[in-house]
Amino acid sequence: MKYLIGLDIGTSSTKAIAFDLLGNIISKSNIGYPILNPKPSWSEQNPDEMLVAVINSIRTVIDENDNKGNELLGVSFSAAMHGIIAVNEKGEKLTDCIIWADTRSTQVSESIKNSEIGHEIYMRTGTPIHPMSPLCKITWMRDNMKEVFKNTSKFISIKEYVFFKLFGKYVVDYSIASATGLFDIYDLAWNKNSLEVAGINKDKLSLPVPPTQIFKGMNKKYAELMGIDVDTAFVIGASDGCLANLGANAIKPGDAAVTIGTSGAIRIIAEKPKNDESERIFSYILTEDHFVLGGPVNNGGIIFRWFRDNFSQIERATAESLGIDTYELLTKEASKVPAGANGLIFLPYLLGERAPHWDANSKGVFFGINITHKREHFLRALLEGVIFGVYSVGKALEETTGNIDTIYATGGFVRSELWVQMLSDVFNKKVVVAESYESSCLGAVVIGMKAIGLINNIEEVEKLVPIAQTFTPNIKNHEVYMKTFEIYERLYLKLKDEFVSIGLLQK
Ligand code: ADP
Repeated sequence: MKYLIGLDIGTSSTKAIAFDLLGNIISKSNIGYPILNPKPSWSEQNPDEMLVAVINSIRTVIDENDNKGNELLGVSFSAAMHGIIAVNEKGEKLTDCIIWADTRSTQVSESIKNSEIGHEIYMRTGTPIHPMSPLCKITWMRDNMKEVFKNTSKFISIKEYVFFKLFGKYVVDYSIASATGLFDIYDLAWNKNSLEVAGINKDKLSLPVPPTQIFKGMNKKYAELMGIDVDTAFVIGASDGCLANLGANAIKPGDAAVTIGTSGAIRIIAEKPKNDESERIFSYILTEDHFVLGGPVNNGGIIFRWFRDNFSQIERATAESLGIDTYELLTKEASKVPAGANGLIFLPYLLGERAPHWDANSKGVFFGINITHKREHFLRALLEGVIFGVYSVGKALEETTGNIDTIYATGGFVRSELWVQMLSDVFNKKVVVAESYESSCLGAVVIGMKAIGLINNIEEVEKLVPIAQTFTPNIKNHEVYMKTFEIYERLYLKLKDEFVSIGLLQK
């Protein structure tokens, strides 16, 4: 059997998944690594640990398939966006990988955003000016890590780090580049204004290449470690967010993908970028002809995990004794109360928020509590609040790009029918859940298939994604949700300043 590997270098782990040419998963390997927090606002990962995870996860899948006599046609890459590593002339790391969650450059980001050139940079690069973006991180390093900045030969992402080790070249796909705040998504070249702000020239960055670019002739040492031929086709691929849309088959006009894993996002694919004058939405590149437009939320499934970990000791013990998942038990509890949680509203901004407000100071709120509210109301309000967060971005996206008809849901939340039904009811749209939710790896494989000529266009992904379940909206619930959502939206605006005040009292 012929197969390709989709490899996703994610935040919690690196996944290598072998797919046959019909899109079926034939084997997989997953190797995790920690997020390092040397200071409260810093989030870093060790790129060498991630490189080892890439090699070992590929090795595991190769060994399994070699044993079955299967033939590898290529490996295609997905990776997390926004990470940055400073390396010296020898390619040695001067910093760990500063990842998307790192907020050390908050002040730098605010000053770039409010500068004369801020809006223009956003409009040309498609990346909201925010501490997640490499533009702000490099600018921060210039001012706060002067020695490192001076000795840096290149600023690169984790995928570039891996490709440099394997092929000795600094290359970045247009997709990862398009999420740096440094890349002109119209000209497909590094953006002059961004470079000026960061105080670097383009020699400090990699050569941008199309996501379908194939690399062969890898360093023998790594080929041996992976158990593959040096001339195996390595396709550079794209970013995890963009590939998740492709792998979920959310690619036609009117389709959107909603991912709720640890964080969350809603995105659509369009032929052209379209930046929002209010700077709420990103435009990232999937291929030269496909742009992914949307917005990310920090407060996705992590909110449910927070509730489980801090307020559910009894349920955890019960779930363990029944041999079921604690989330399942908690979801059942939430389903005891009707839509709208009897007027209890939850603002989920426990981690501040990115889209649509891009406000790192915002906080979580339960609003409208009365004497009849029980634990199950709080739980239901919490799940609804996460969906309202995504809905609020969805509305901004529809205003910018046109109507959404169908939502393709991915991420850990699809394990809960109640939560997916809420998504359908709040949006008043059909929601489709695919059989596998390894969508970034499948998306990478589709780019790989296009690169090596197995398919003519990436729209052929439709044949590779089996649908497991479809949810249709309940109009009565939708009406309740819309009344609740109006208050939800006003609450944020009314509390905006108070979030800053309360933040001063928190450590
Ligand atoms: P990652 O972001 O690391 O890829 P996942 O996509 O696996 O994570 O999502 C994890 C989240 O999915 C959890 O934080 C939780 O909110 C949600 N989740 C996991 N299992 C369930 C379940 N059975 N019911 C509801 N939500 C779930």
